[in-house]
Amino acid sequence: MYNRSLPLPSPVRRLAVSALATSVLVVIGTVPALAQVSPPTGSPVPDSGHVEDLWTRDLDSDLLGVEVAPTPDSALLENVRSALTTLASDHFEGRRTGTPGEARAAHFIANRFESFGLVAAGNDAYFQRFPMRRTVRPDGRERLELMSGWSSFEQHPAEERVIGANVVGLIRGSDPELRDEAVLVSAHFDHLGIGTPNEEGDSIYNGADDDASGVVAMLEIARALSEGPAPRRTVVFLAATGEEQGLLGTRWYIQNPAVPLRRTVANLNIEMIGRPDPLVGGPGRMWLTGYERSTMGEIISEHGIAIVPDPRPEYNFFMRSDNIAFAYLGIPAHTISSYNLHEDYHTPADEVDRIDFEHMALVVEAAIEAVRALADGPAPMWHPGGRPVPPGSTTRD
Ligand SMILES: [Zn+2]
Repeated sequence: MYNRSLPLPSPVRRLAVSALATSVLVVIGTVPALAQVSPPTGSPVPDSGHVEDLWTRDLDSDLLGVEVAPTPDSALLENVRSALTTLASDHFEGRRTGTPGEARAAHFIANRFESFGLVAAGNDAYFQRFPMRRTVRPDGRERLELMSGWSSFEQHPAEERVIGANVVGLIRGSDPELRDEAVLVSAHFDHLGIGTPNEEGDSIYNGADDDASGVVAMLEIARALSEGPAPRRTVVFLAATGEEQGLLGTRWYIQNPAVPLRRTVANLNIEMIGRPDPLVGGPGRMWLTGYERSTMGEIISEHGIAIVPDPRPEYNFFMRSDNIAFAYLGIPAHTISSYNLHEDYHTPADEVDRIDFEHMALVVEAAIEAVRALADGPAPMWHPGGRPVPPGSTTRD
């Protein structure tokens, strides 16, 4: 998720905290129901028949009077934990575009794609390398810009040349009528690199939530689709770089798509699903940016997947990730998230030890079904007026 320098308005922060407090109270409020199962101290022990009856019955949610929280598949939970712990480790040095840490992360993702048997869809196996130029701003900060091609790249001095790489793989569709159409699943694997240390002296911006969590979801979707029945449409997996620098990798992909964009019927992007959002029900729940703009959210919901509109539209998250570049081109494109406005956003504290893996694995399970719904069902359509108008453009299509 890139920063548009929006300060966190304090009323919203308070709202999130109070919603969290409410959900804690709800959990605490269920405990007395559990206690009713045991006799109070000092009262006569129930006869053995009653006790046997109690313990041979299925102690389900009816008896306890509490709703049992769903639990994720244990293999998926371990896959999610293992991949995220790797990608968000200090070894990857914050995955800044144009650094060795970013290259290591790209290799990790490409190895996973290969192990799942994805078709390589870059210009160098799974890698989609592209040219950038590095300049330094007057305040000393680095700026990366996308170059139009390799010939202009070579005209710049070596110290300005930077090569970035998206990682792209695909699963071919099985339906003769639909296989030429594609659903694009995306997440950005770059983050902010090494920067200003925090109070603990940590200078590595690990980006566990932003957006290693989305990349891991994408990997698990790729695994599930490659192991299960083949999707009817082709599914393209794009691990994009340069998102934090202005969607550079996605902008290059748009010029060099694995499947022509006119046959790309939907983009489902995944950003920051590592922590539950109390505003949409907490663990296992997710929201979709720009939900009301197209039929995508409805298509996913019709498959029994709990997905709701972004509860904080004032932050304009629909415009703040890779999906927006595709939406401007007319492709229904949205982002799944459960970002709860935590204050570790874009700080060295966005670490793996703050990830709620049970929550995240539940969201990943839902995201797998969401991609199946998009790959096998009707193509999403914009609602009237829902398609965003690109900046500088004066007309709607
Ligand atoms: Zn970000």
